[in-house]
Amino acid sequence: MTAGANDLPIGVAIIGGGPAGLSAGLQLVRANRRIAILDSNRPRHSATLESHGFLTRDGIPPLELRRIGREEFEAYPSAQYAQAIVRSVERLSEADAHAVGFPDGIGFRVHGTGIRGQANAEFIARRVLISAGLTEQLPQLPMIRAYYGTALHSCVECDGFEKTDKPLVLIGETSDLFARALLISRFSSDLIVFTNGADTIRPEQETQLNAIGIRVERRIIDDIVGEKADMTGVRLADGEVIARVGGFVRPRWNAPVEFMGEIELERDDWGLVVTDERGETSARGVYAVGDIVPPGPQQLIIAAGNGARVAAKLNMDMIRGALGVGMIDE
Ligand SMILES: Cc1cc2nc3c(=O)[nH]c(=O)nc-3n(C[C@H](O)[C@H](O)[C@H](O)COP(=O)(O)OP(=O)(O)OC[C@H]3O[C@@H](n4cnc5c(N)ncnc54)[C@H](O)[C@@H]3O)c2cc1C
Repeated sequence: MTAGANDLPIGVAIIGGGPAGLSAGLQLVRANRRIAILDSNRPRHSATLESHGFLTRDGIPPLELRRIGREEFEAYPSAQYAQAIVRSVERLSEADAHAVGFPDGIGFRVHGTGIRGQANAEFIARRVLISAGLTEQLPQLPMIRAYYGTALHSCVECDGFEKTDKPLVLIGETSDLFARALLISRFSSDLIVFTNGADTIRPEQETQLNAIGIRVERRIIDDIVGEKADMTGVRLADGEVIARVGGFVRPRWNAPVEFMGEIELERDDWGLVVTDERGETSARGVYAVGDIVPPGPQQLIIAAGNGARVAAKLNMDMIRGALGVGMIDE
């Protein structure tokens, strides 16, 4: 069903149709709620052709996983799916929320610009669930994108197995590099950690890594090199090429929530959207789930699981709000 400004008010507008948003959406339509998912179709994992570790779907192309999820969601009569980029979310005044029939005086207007020839979408919703995932910025190397999703990955749990016993890199400029190197050592001891000139591995950490055969390379990187689609090494700024066939990069992640406008959301030190244990953000009525909440990027099945858990809390919040019986339900 496509959405428009004249449609009835809905229960929840879900911003982002990845595993977190789709899973929450499925639970909520099954709770007889009118639910809209607005999705701009730019998932972080679009660089990859296979996703791993989702029980019953190991190895499935990520787009196929989404297609199945969307189909299951849209099979319910109260589901609406809009291919749209959300541009703004505004809070309704209490009087306006009551006027459209929202019993607890909480409501939002969500506006999205249609993509791929689709119409713009606007919803009046009792609650908002942000499941917009993260955008990522890779270390600034000219050819790195060409190998990202094939030779180079960012999620060790997702793609470590395929890299067992290979000569690997870990490239990153953040303070969690040491912990990542330890994780990767489970898959291959032939690992070089490239800090690209950043001072992010302490001398005692380097000693510990050296003790298990992992080298730390602190020189500046010029680029990733390869032959056709195959990565063959890392070229340093001084011209030396170190032979490597793949490995991991540590991107910097951003939570894309500019569309929230004047509705302020508390963020943690990494910029992730902070929620309470029910999944509600610091803004009443606005929930968040998936990669966008601490501890940040994890896995498809975790995002989907979070979506289901927060959907249940959201549903209870709306039931309690309608009956005026307060927030505490446990
Ligand atoms: C290269 C790569 C490979 C990966 N491989 C695996 C793997 O093998 N196995 C695994 O379990 N996990 C893997 N992951 C991790 C997995 O992709 C994420 O953990 C998961 O997708 C997070 O789900 P999400 O729903 O929170 O966000 P996403 O899947 O990122 O979905 C967010 C959605 O929100 C949309 N959106 C953003 N802003 C707006 C807006 N303003 N309006 C409307 N829509 C918006 C985006 O377009 C996107 O469709 C991989 C990640 C990457 C980067």
